Amino acid sequence: MNTSSNNNDTLCVVPPAASLEGFASLTVPVYRASTIVFPNAAAYRSRAARSPDGYTYGLAGTPTTRTLESQLAEIHSAARSIIVPSGQAAITTVMLALLKRGDHVLITDNVYPPVKLFARTILHSFGVDVEYFDPTRLADLEAKIRPGATKLVWVESPGSTTMEICDIPAIAARCRNSGALLGCDNTWATGLLCKPLSLGVDIVAEAITKYAGGHSDILLGAIILDDLDLYARFRAALGALGVGTSPDDCSHALRGIQTMALRIRHAGALSEQFAQRLEASGFKVLHPCLPSFSGHALWRRDFAGCSGVFSLLLEGVDPGKVDRALDQLRTFAIGASWGGTRSIVAPMVVAGERHAMPAHEDVSYIRLSIGLESAEDLWRDIERMSDVLLG
Ligand SMILES: *Cc1c(COP(=O)(O)O)cnc(C)c1O
Repeated sequence: MNTSSNNNDTLCVVPPAASLEGFASLTVPVYRASTIVFPNAAAYRSRAARSPDGYTYGLAGTPTTRTLESQLAEIHSAARSIIVPSGQAAITTVMLALLKRGDHVLITDNVYPPVKLFARTILHSFGVDVEYFDPTRLADLEAKIRPGATKLVWVESPGSTTMEICDIPAIAARCRNSGALLGCDNTWATGLLCKPLSLGVDIVAEAITKYAGGHSDILLGAIILDDLDLYARFRAALGALGVGTSPDDCSHALRGIQTMALRIRHAGALSEQFAQRLEASGFKVLHPCLPSFSGHALWRRDFAGCSGVFSLLLEGVDPGKVDRALDQLRTFAIGASWGGTRSIVAPMVVAGERHAMPAHEDVSYIRLSIGLESAEDLWRDIERMSDVLLG
């Protein structure tokens, strides 16, 4: 057997470099990598010096990831952003990196529910003291915040399902006075409609899964911030945990963002119109754009508009009737998550999940996310649902 002059194996493994001359495109290339190659041994030995921004190992990102991170940072006028595998991971990474045994954390009672699951399992097992507060009552925050011991206050505005808007600048001032960092989940608004860093927030989390992804087919999250020390801490924590994201998913998010402003403008306008019409037909509608909504004035002050998600509050409607109403829908799909091209509804219950805000056993909610189908089809669907609910 003659193998001595056969370089076929190498030809298979090392592709030739194609010329880039004359090639220009409007897209961001997908750079996949686990190994990052170094020009020489000394560069490899000193690779840690490239962190937290440079390229060291695929887990910490490739130019595709960095492009998405820079674009989100620019949309927020922020110094940096970090892409993580989901919106939930953005929140848990912040909490895992900042909190240790004996620390106190205050979380708004209307937070995205899986954050409460994380708090009562993982944070609890690590000895972190978790407490919930009512974000609509500053006095509740003032009574619960412990100067020196409260390391982090976490808000979400509007809150999940019940949509309360909180006074972020006032909460930020209380946090600064007590030495606590303030984090904010900005998924509903995105950086296009609210820039929480400019309102005094230290750390923003967003589910890129929703409006940036925009097509119900990827899961990603982002941590967005100005403080470079915190940025290095979060990157180091993700490296230690072994958490990274796929450049292919980041490429889908970069494509989604291309149309995000238009999609949100459309969904926001339609959600406002539907909210008004539903209110006029006798529903209690939870949408910040409505003058009847308690957070309306704060929303007008701090937000540049509305996105496509809002809720109906149902009093004394039994779950069987809610299910019958939702089963009339032909254009809306029933499911979790939102922010895609398809309109989505979900029945929601918050009683039993509340620790600091009032909740009534006989109150439930229907959350609607408006997508890109025709307004007539969607409204006809909403009428079919309303007929059962009001009948
Ligand atoms: C969906 C959502 C998340 C979680 O995002 P995933 O990417 O699904 O983990 C976090 N916060 C809010 C407000 C959300 O709506």
